[in-house]
Amino acid sequence: MKRALVLALATFVTVAASAQLKPRPDAFPSVPEVFASKSVLMADNMEAMAAWNRYPTYETYLALMQRWAQEYPSLCNIDTIGTSVNGRLILCMHIEGRRDSAVAKPQFFYSSTIHGDEVTGYVMMLRLIDTLLSGYGRNPQYTGLVDSVAIYINPVSNPDGTYHSGNSTVAGAVRENANGVDLNRNYPDPFAVAKATLQPENEAMIDYVNRHNFRLSANLHGGSEVMNYPWDCFRSSVRPHPERAWWMDVCKRFVDTSRVYSNSHFRDVNSSGYIAGGDWYVIHGGRQDYMNYYHDCLELTMEISTRKTLDAENLPEYWRFLQHSLVNYIAEIRHLPGAQQGIDSPGQDTPSLELFPNPASDRVIVKGITDGATLQLCDLAGRVLAEQRYCKGTSLDISALPAGVYLLRAGGAAVKLVKR
Ligand SMILES: [Zn+2]
Repeated sequence: MKRALVLALATFVTVAASAQLKPRPDAFPSVPEVFASKSVLMADNMEAMAAWNRYPTYETYLALMQRWAQEYPSLCNIDTIGTSVNGRLILCMHIEGRRDSAVAKPQFFYSSTIHGDEVTGYVMMLRLIDTLLSGYGRNPQYTGLVDSVAIYINPVSNPDGTYHSGNSTVAGAVRENANGVDLNRNYPDPFAVAKATLQPENEAMIDYVNRHNFRLSANLHGGSEVMNYPWDCFRSSVRPHPERAWWMDVCKRFVDTSRVYSNSHFRDVNSSGYIAGGDWYVIHGGRQDYMNYYHDCLELTMEISTRKTLDAENLPEYWRFLQHSLVNYIAEIRHLPGAQQGIDSPGQDTPSLELFPNPASDRVIVKGITDGATLQLCDLAGRVLAEQRYCKGTSLDISALPAGVYLLRAGGAAVKLVKR
């Protein structure tokens, strides 16, 4: 969509560095502002973000993340997922409350703005981090959630696209990364004809995901208002997602909750506010299907604002109607379908090849192929890393293999293998 945005860098009187980072709308009329347009108001210091009606400069973003880590050291820490083509940081806030439990908590992942100009989610994620951290110990719902779920929030996964015009503004943000590549068409896709060369941002993200065990996630976009559940690479009539009914329930709850606060949203694609991705339009190389297919992580795509780059003054309104849905979606991790079993993969047209256990850390037993067939262990690009002759009862020693996702091929069949 068109953007008629003028660089609108507001200048602010710097307030005391110790000021609380809570929404304080009342503090703002007293702050002098000078700007050319209200469209893309920028906050060039942390205090200017207090009412959440500004976009942060890149430096303000980094400062906010650091400040939370300093203010809530027992609740959060910053992970560096990696760096962009131009060297900007791709960060993730890991939020976790009580950590004395012997039971591993389920891991939840939010990630936004893989399309650099779709920045509503960027600010929503920052505000969500602030809300969970500042609400811990005060709001029972947030406290319970932060104590029971390991929450990871990556506010901007394509910072070069977002700060295309420079670190001081999101005006002029672009969809692609600095190499001109659409990162949400660049993930490994077992069904795509052409294999893309992985971009650094996605390579770093894949490495990060491999080092975690995310069970539920969402990738936030803008340009429409609809909950887009998997698959993206098939129409549902061709191959429905195995948990389609669950997805529809989850999406309905998300949309219904938001409509309690504003009945006019999530209506620009269809009346329900949710859709199977491929029924909207088929894409290949998206992150959503990558997470579902390769990681057994239930991920959907949240399209949360009809405009990709909202007027900054509208950001609080979007937070108002999205905040409860965003928090509740994290809690859905407590009731995953087929818990512990992972989800079925699409495209296993030759189901004879079976691995047990999978994911695995040391040895994998292979079943369902004939003696004498050649077993090939491949990376996601299809390169053969190792091969051996199969005989009944073969078990593969994968203890030396780095953690990650691989393909095991034999006799024309292929199955993914997740090495923990
Ligand atoms: Zn997008």
